[in-house]
Amino acid sequence: MPFSLTGKTAVVTAAGQGIGRAIAEAYRDAGARVIASDIDPSKLQDLAGVEVFECDVTSQRSVSALADFSGKADILANVAGFVHHGDIMTATEEEWDFGFNLNVKSMFRTIRAFLPGMIELGGGSIINMASVASNLAGVPNRLVYGASKAAVIGLTKQVARDFISSGVRCNAIAPGTVQSPSLNDRINAFDDPVQARKDFIARQPLGRLGTAEEIASVALYLASDEAAYTTGTVIVADGGLTI
Ligand code: NAD
Repeated sequence: MPFSLTGKTAVVTAAGQGIGRAIAEAYRDAGARVIASDIDPSKLQDLAGVEVFECDVTSQRSVSALADFSGKADILANVAGFVHHGDIMTATEEEWDFGFNLNVKSMFRTIRAFLPGMIELGGGSIINMASVASNLAGVPNRLVYGASKAAVIGLTKQVARDFISSGVRCNAIAPGTVQSPSLNDRINAFDDPVQARKDFIARQPLGRLGTAEEIASVALYLASDEAAYTTGTVIVADGGLTI
């Protein structure tokens, strides 16, 4: 069977819904022991066949507790992230700090918590959720988000380069617009949600939104031994947004 994760331990942040949940399910279905974590444990209750753990990735203590619970992990999928809406004139310093803390510094914390165990195991795979809204593309009203996701890609390349000889790979995924609960919230925040959904779809040349499962497939590949020669890169799965 391709992309087997049998015998591996995988930790997923923000696994309660959307892309994180789909990744936790894909890793579970591929045979991994999965620790599915989220700040909201109620979202993890109906996730079968995985171990669940409440973790707020903006808290060092919470991330350390997740690492203690999980033990050494072969795979770390950093999925937690937040979409701030606004441009450089409307964003506040507080929003900038919150966005960077949740979208980037969270990965600084989790990677530092799990990397030593991966090195002891002789290797591992870190998958960081970026976005096409980053250094790859400017998207309207995504100032904090795009800047923080560009930082995710920089962090990914640095970790990949610094630990390449330890067997640890570190890659990022840059999705386009993907159907998820928070996307619904963003669409419903518009005065005309029906038109807003059409506009989101219209910016995808493929003519539709992506699914969380389509992003999870990429995360499964990157976690697998089949991706052994792939590190420090960004896989774009964006419905053609950046063509
Ligand atoms: P979502 O936004 O619907 O869900 C996010 C999850 O994160 C929720 O379960 C929430 O409880 C959890 N969470 C929030 N704060 C947390 C914290 N401090 N610690 C731990 N968990 C926390 O999910 P989504 O839209 O699938 O997005 C997942 C990731 O994919 C994000 O990093 C997002 O930026 C990225 N992404 C999403 C899209 C998209 O269109 N949906 C596109 C590109 C990138």
